[in-house]
Amino acid sequence: MKINATMSRALNRRMILNHLRREGPMSRADITALTGLSPAAVTFVVAELMDEALVQEREAVANIKGRPSTPIDINYGSRLAFGFKLNKDSINCVLTDLATTVLASADLPISDTSPAGITTAIAGNMPVLLKTADRAEADVMGIGVSIPGEIDPVTGMCIQSPRFGWQSLPFAELLGEQVKVPVWIDDDVNAFGIAQRLFGAGRDHQNFAALAIGAGIGCSLIIGGEIYHGGRSAAGKLGHIISVENGRRCECGRRGCLMAHAAEPYMLDEWERLSGAPISRDGFVEAATNNSELAISILRDAGSRVGRHLADVVNMFDPDVIIVGGEAVQFGELLLGPIREAMERFSFFSKPELIADWVSNSWARGAAALATQNIFDFQRAPSG
Ligand SMILES: [Zn+2]
Repeated sequence: MKINATMSRALNRRMILNHLRREGPMSRADITALTGLSPAAVTFVVAELMDEALVQEREAVANIKGRPSTPIDINYGSRLAFGFKLNKDSINCVLTDLATTVLASADLPISDTSPAGITTAIAGNMPVLLKTADRAEADVMGIGVSIPGEIDPVTGMCIQSPRFGWQSLPFAELLGEQVKVPVWIDDDVNAFGIAQRLFGAGRDHQNFAALAIGAGIGCSLIIGGEIYHGGRSAAGKLGHIISVENGRRCECGRRGCLMAHAAEPYMLDEWERLSGAPISRDGFVEAATNNSELAISILRDAGSRVGRHLADVVNMFDPDVIIVGGEAVQFGELLLGPIREAMERFSFFSKPELIADWVSNSWARGAAALATQNIFDFQRAPSG
């Protein structure tokens, strides 16, 4: 009986917080109408959330009947989260509020990519970000770390990350030993998908795909409002679908993976091979911006290849929309156009809209969302 009452209170909290997140500030009466809860239950939960400073009252306004009405809003600044996105040679670091609005950020170069080297770099950066934002450690609700690879977010285990050469690494536990706050980890593309679900273009969709193209390619699947991890935390690995039999070597060790034939390292290799110019991302971006025919044809080939495989995702999952992120979004329609064209040509029935939603820091904000999502979803306990 006690458990049921606790559970129902947790569900009511979750429901009210998520309505406020999606719809913005609203009065207790509006919350009652929208949730179907009793006025007493709404009053009780709102009072509890106000005690915890998770929600706050805004200035009263007149409602349609002319009576004063006090809107309730989430107090996004009341808690902080750290987000760390691990790259091969750097860590993108942010300190955010509950809406993953960035309060301080840094790009930390790293030479030691051993687990201890990375956890020490993260722990050392936290006080720096807090000082920059002039905030207290006591307000930090947690840390999210996004890692390219197969990650079990429940146990906090990095099952494997070929980019770092890690296997069966209890990363959340290792970092948790160095810091005093809860640690959540997930695959970097899933973290991007979670951020999209909470506060991005995916906030109004229960079913969508979040495609990321950068150093690799991944496609996180949000089904019924939740990230779909699969049986072995390996769902959404679009980049490791074999696209060319016996093709180029992928970082996973196999040959012919989609990412080895369409992600940014492939584009830059092709640029060097065909133009004779040295590999430089800036040089390639500049050539594309100046409408170099060669750069455009490399982007067209890569985009068409991604779109062809994305059509299979569409056929299998029929997402409402496909949200596109990752560094390669910078190429705009030169890349998105061929993706869209091939996806529409090869899909059986549905032709979901491709929506680019990417700003600098999106990776690290996604990592922070691994922590902040726990305010809105009370199902998961922290690891580490
Ligand atoms: Zn691969």
